[in-house]
Amino acid sequence: MPENGWFNTGKEATDRASAKPQFGVSHRYYLKVGGEGEIVFIDGDNTVEEPIGSYREHAFVTKDGKWPNFASCPGKGCQVCREGLKPYDAWPFTIIQLKPTWTDRAGKEHTNEIKLLVAKKEAMQKILRHIGLRKGLIGTQWNVFRSGQKSYTIGDDWQFQRKIGGDGVVLPLERRILIAKEFSLKPEDVKQINYREALKPKTIEELMAEGIDFEGTKRREASFFGGGQGGGQAGAQGGQSGGQAAGGQPNQGAGSDVPY
Ligand SMILES: [Zn+2]
Repeated sequence: MPENGWFNTGKEATDRASAKPQFGVSHRYYLKVGGEGEIVFIDGDNTVEEPIGSYREHAFVTKDGKWPNFASCPGKGCQVCREGLKPYDAWPFTIIQLKPTWTDRAGKEHTNEIKLLVAKKEAMQKILRHIGLRKGLIGTQWNVFRSGQKSYTIGDDWQFQRKIGGDGVVLPLERRILIAKEFSLKPEDVKQINYREALKPKTIEELMAEGIDFEGTKRREASFFGGGQGGGQAGAQGGQSGGQAAGGQPNQGAGSDVPY
């Protein structure tokens, strides 16, 4: 953040030239209601060398009705908490999204992209069980399905397919090389996302620029947890304005209103 307001100088200015764009919501694995997918884990062995991490996060709606958007919660001094939004526990994983594939506005089909998969508490309990049963998740391939509006956006039904590199003891690095080969990816791309960087808490200025709507988010959560029929009052606030999602990306349409 610039120290003197809006104008950057020196290192702060030059750093911007090479700064990667913020890890956006489109880089998160997300299934529409009724959507099926296929994923491969790049991390998730939960070993001493590569322990699983966790953080707290807020989901929010924007003033123009986009949902979901996310903001990591820094805890103490969090301005989102101060506005009355509650954070939840979250566990990040790195996966390859085999399905769904999606087509961007330029008509380019995106396949085998590296994505962030964020599990919330109940999903994480299932995942921990899978880690035990499969002796680590790296290289495991899953069919996933999201059955309903109130089920996880990462799917609530997971079917194990196979483990690339087999069940034996294979070092994470070796297994990732096998994964890269299997899906014709560059080995240097098959690596764990830098979570500290990708999930860095945003400043209140950045959140305002994204259009965070505190009251709209509260209304949405109240209507959702109040057992109303999907959306209710809050949903009427333009949540459906995106029309049909192009290729299953979040933020653009119906069925994307689960606070999980
Ligand atoms: Zn917070």
